[in-house]
Amino acid sequence: MSVWHGLTGQDRVVAQLQRSIARGRVPHALLFSGPPGAPLVDTALALAMALNCLDATARAEGDGCGQCSACTKIASGIHPDVVTLIREGAANIVPIESVRTQVIGRIGLPPHEADTRVFIVEEATALAPPAANSLLKTLEEPPNRTVFVMCTTAPEQLLPTIRSRCQRIRFGGGTAVADADPARASRLSGLADELAGDRHDPSLPQRIVEGKGDAIPVIIGAAQVLHQVAREAAAAGDAARAQRAAARAHAIINWHTAVAIHNANPLLAIDALIAQLHELPGASA
Ligand SMILES: [Zn+2]
Repeated sequence: MSVWHGLTGQDRVVAQLQRSIARGRVPHALLFSGPPGAPLVDTALALAMALNCLDATARAEGDGCGQCSACTKIASGIHPDVVTLIREGAANIVPIESVRTQVIGRIGLPPHEADTRVFIVEEATALAPPAANSLLKTLEEPPNRTVFVMCTTAPEQLLPTIRSRCQRIRFGGGTAVADADPARASRLSGLADELAGDRHDPSLPQRIVEGKGDAIPVIIGAAQVLHQVAREAAAAGDAARAQRAAARAHAIINWHTAVAIHNANPLLAIDALIAQLHELPGASA
C-alpha cells in the first residue's frame, strides 16, 4: 500500500512531494507548516519511507511500499537513520542535548543503511535557542544524502534564519479553506495558495471557477494566506514584503465586496482581480 495513503485532505502536498522524490530533487531542508492537527510528522515519515523504500517500482513513483524492512522500521520508529526530535521534560522543548547526540554526532558519518537520512523536528518553534543555533549551522552546510524536515503550526514564531533556509510546504485543512470534503478542501487551498502567489498561470481563473461555488472560498483563502505572509514578514523585519502582502490582501477583500454587490461574471471578475494583483507596486518582485 502507498505510504501516502491515509494523509487525507493533503493531496496537493502529497503530489508535490511525490514529484520531487521521483525527480530526485527533494530539497535538503523542508519546512512543513499547517494548522494544529495537520499530519506534519506523519507526512515527514511517509517522505522518509518513500526516499528509502527497498521496492524500486514504488520508489520510481515517489512512493514507498510500506511493507519492506526499511518502510516498517521507519513506521515503527526504529530506523537508525530516520530520527524524530521531540519536545521533552517540564519545559516542553527540544533540548540542545538531543540535537548534539542525535543530529550533530551523526552527520559526520555516512548513514547506517539508508539512502537518504531524514531528521524530523516535531515542532520547530520548541527548539531551545542553542539547539536552533546548532541546527542552523548544519542547515547552512547540508551534508550529503540528508534531508531535514522542520514541522510547525506557528511558522511566524520561527527564527527567520531557519525559515529562510527551508523550502516551505503549506498543509491545508485549517480555517483558510474549511470544507467537509477533505479532498475538495485540499484542492481549494491549493488554488488559494496559487492565487496568493507571484506566478501568473493563465489557466488559474478557469480552474478557480470550474467547480460551482468554489470561487469564494478560494478568494477568501488567498486573502488569509496573504495576511499570514504579511504577519510573518513583519515579524521577520521585512517591511516591504509585509506591506506588499497586506496591499494584495486588501485588493482581494475590496474585489470580493465589489463582486458581491455587482454579481459579475465570475471568470471575467477573477481575471480582473489577478491582473490587479500583478499590477500592485512591486508585485512582480
Ligand atoms: Zn518499502
